[in-house]
Amino acid sequence: MGEGREDRQERRRLRLQEHQGRDYGGGVMTYEQPWGDEVGEGWGPIVLECHRQLNHLDPGYRIGQIKEKFGGLRYYFDSSLAFDHLTRAVMDSVVIAAEYQCSITCEVCGTGGRLRSNSGWYKTLCDEHATEQR
Ligand SMILES: [Zn+2]
Repeated sequence: MGEGREDRQERRRLRLQEHQGRDYGGGVMTYEQPWGDEVGEGWGPIVLECHRQLNHLDPGYRIGQIKEKFGGLRYYFDSSLAFDHLTRAVMDSVVIAAEYQCSITCEVCGTGGRLRSNSGWYKTLCDEHATEQR
């Protein structure tokens, strides 16, 4: 038996607490933000860097939802700069870059990965973790 879902949630909660209160370029990643249990640890650094860059561009931006879907990262946000279309376009490109990075990174361990599918199930994984999941 591997660790259960409860254990994983607890570990992520603790990891998020580490980030809580830390300064990511002007703003703060808080535990309350809806990162949740939706993204594997291997993508954590990518997600945090994405948040840091978005926060730098728009300190008032809000995370809508961050999750994994069909093996890819989905990072939804609202800009506070409603009429600043140029900044919004740059923010969109930051998110696209993070989604691309995740598409070649194992969601479990953060090493190089690729999209795997198995009867309607999609995950981006390295060879090792793809074998484990089978
Ligand atoms: Zn892996």
